[in-house]
Amino acid sequence: MNELAYPRVQAHLGRLKLPRMADCLDGVAEQAAKHDWTYLEFLDHLLETEVSARYERDVTMKTKLAHFPFPKTLDQFDFVFQPSIPERQIRELATLRFVANGENVLLLGPPGVGKTHLAIALGMAAIQQAVSVYFITMVDLLEQLQRDAKEDRLPHRLHTLCRPKLLILDEMGYFPLDRLAAQFLFQLVSRRYQRGSIILTSNKSYGDWGDIFADQVLATAILDRLLHFSTTISIRGQSYRLREKRKAGVFTELTEPAKEV
Ligand code: ADP
Ligand code: MG
Repeated sequence: MNELAYPRVQAHLGRLKLPRMADCLDGVAEQAAKHDWTYLEFLDHLLETEVSARYERDVTMKTKLAHFPFPKTLDQFDFVFQPSIPERQIRELATLRFVANGENVLLLGPPGVGKTHLAIALGMAAIQQAVSVYFITMVDLLEQLQRDAKEDRLPHRLHTLCRPKLLILDEMGYFPLDRLAAQFLFQLVSRRYQRGSIILTSNKSYGDWGDIFADQVLATAILDRLLHFSTTISIRGQSYRLREKRKAGVFTELTEPAKEV
């Protein structure tokens, strides 16, 4: 590279907003000379530096926007501990075909069996494939809705929750939903129907959804839309959290009946 070409290439890369290529230019040019790369191989390597930098930036940004409570991956999940979870089906979900088709995933089961873990892991897999994700617990959503209602911002909230390609609603069923929340959820599910996927986790089976909504008609209407294009994973089994506690010897006192004196 002659003396004039070098500053000109650097200036062009700057103007074209390709900073990683500018940073890596020297190193890649040296590699090219050392390994006798063709012009095309050199360009290929140089472009790769910018593309991978942008990909990493995109993943970091999407992960921040997703608001996961903690990071979890499928590789960290012990399928042997929870045999009621069909590993093949979860791996199939991780291909994200359900997101491409606007389908939903419902993870049902008692506390501690890994519903939130799997929901986050699928969300993180989605981000790796450039899908926008937003995670919210139902408790937080209810709190937000009460504030939004006072400030007349419910339509704005609805719009915001319709934007991500994948919405994760965690822990449906621990608290009953008032009429406002039930109607909001109905609108949310209707708007996203066949357009944006939802992963929903719940400790309640479908038969008990009437109790959550205090309105059988709304519960049925919401379930109808959620389930039309969906996969349900029903998890039975022991809590992983309690297993850890049991191992540490903490839980026996709580489970064993007190001995009479
Ligand atoms: P749930 O949402 O069903 O109540 P979580 O997903 O929050 O359960 O799981 C509770 C804790 O146990 C989390 O830290 C999670 O990572 C872990 N956990 C649950 N199941 C498994 C599993 N099969 N393998 C590894 N970790 C698990
Ligand atoms: Mg959970």
